[in-house]
Amino acid sequence: MVALLWILLVVLWGLAAILGFKLRGINRERKELEKQIEELEKQIEEGEKQLEEGEKQFEEIEKQREAIGGLRARRAVETLKEYHPPLGGREGLRLDFNENVDGCSPRVLELLRATTAETLNKYPEREPGELKVAAALGLEPAQVLLTNGVDEAIHLLAECYLEPGDETLVAVPTFSMYEIYALATGSAVRTVQANEALEFPYEAMLGAITPRTRMICIASPNNPTGAIATREQLLAIVQAAPQAAVLIDEAYIHFGGESLLDQIGVLDNLFICRTFSKAYGLAGFRLGALLGAAGQLHMVRRVASPYSVNGVVLTCLQAALDDQEYIAGYVEQVLEGRAKLEQFYRERRIPYWPSQANFVLAYFGDFRQALVAEMRRRGILVRDRNADPGCAGCVRITVGNRAQTERLLRELSEALAAIGFVVQQRAANFGALPLAAKETR
Ligand code: PMP
Repeated sequence: MVALLWILLVVLWGLAAILGFKLRGINRERKELEKQIEELEKQIEEGEKQLEEGEKQFEEIEKQREAIGGLRARRAVETLKEYHPPLGGREGLRLDFNENVDGCSPRVLELLRATTAETLNKYPEREPGELKVAAALGLEPAQVLLTNGVDEAIHLLAECYLEPGDETLVAVPTFSMYEIYALATGSAVRTVQANEALEFPYEAMLGAITPRTRMICIASPNNPTGAIATREQLLAIVQAAPQAAVLIDEAYIHFGGESLLDQIGVLDNLFICRTFSKAYGLAGFRLGALLGAAGQLHMVRRVASPYSVNGVVLTCLQAALDDQEYIAGYVEQVLEGRAKLEQFYRERRIPYWPSQANFVLAYFGDFRQALVAEMRRRGILVRDRNADPGCAGCVRITVGNRAQTERLLRELSEALAAIGFVVQQRAANFGALPLAAKETR
């Protein structure tokens, strides 16, 4: 009998221990959930603040407009959110705009120094430049339109293909100008949110295509995530929307990803844009190229200014294209530096997104603002990407040349210590974000 009681006691004790263990687990999970809820509430609060701010600005505009009574911008322009990249006060090591901070080909600088008055007083002739780019890329000249940076290429596509009632599809977070130029035409934008891994949301993009979809913009590698879409995914999207101009932005193609260049002229609705602002180190020169089927580009040329590409850059173009040794040397340093920066994050268990571009996005949570400020104090500019959809708490850092990467890693390490940084886990907050497509007008 006593033995039986003992056994019962031991069983009960065991059960109590298991229960206690389980309760502790539940408690831990509850605390984790509470933390996530807190983070979400903070984000909602921030969103509401931004909304309030936007509404105030809108009211202000309305008031001014009523007071003036006269000329009004188109409604699509009045409701457009303003995009002000933080361009002021950029002294120091500029690791904030994904520029090539190493420089550019010395051959370009040489030609630039020899610029004559004729180059400046003559209206620039774009066609010879298009011949050069076409030859360098293995395309027909009619498949190349040189533009004032990729920005102008996006603008021209929107002008050429979008009407009110049409829709542009973009996977966010991504480069802001797609949305801005599309909305400015008075048409709608449908955004598809990437998952928490910030991967290209292939299935959701495919599913969001409708007969109204007239433009699709995809950056691969993407900015600010550094993620790529595979060649198969991109081809499937181009083929699934024959009524849409599909722009594949290959601004960062020198650093990773698979080009669709061989499909130019094969797929009639495919456009690719390339820029001289990144690997070539010529962001101030403003040169981009829009590549597409000759028949489609013929239409796009109708809305393009004949002189938007300046004469100086056109005289330097061949030298830039020829000096592939410079590009290869710079790209090699970036890839090496990118691996080092990613290793730095891994060693410190700082969440980051593996990148195929010349920058890396990482999560610093509540320490983000302090880090950006501390880095600036140390003479290094890095980019706060907190406002990008799905990037709360994130900072993007551009990778420079070898010496610049060494300096970056040293200063980053010291800056983190100086602000008392402790790693934060990124809340699984994507339930609260519009995973499905969201429409903006
Ligand atoms: N596309 C992407 C994806 C970019 O990130 C940027 C610049 N940040 C651009 C285009 C702009 O290129 P450009 O300087 O040729 O206008």
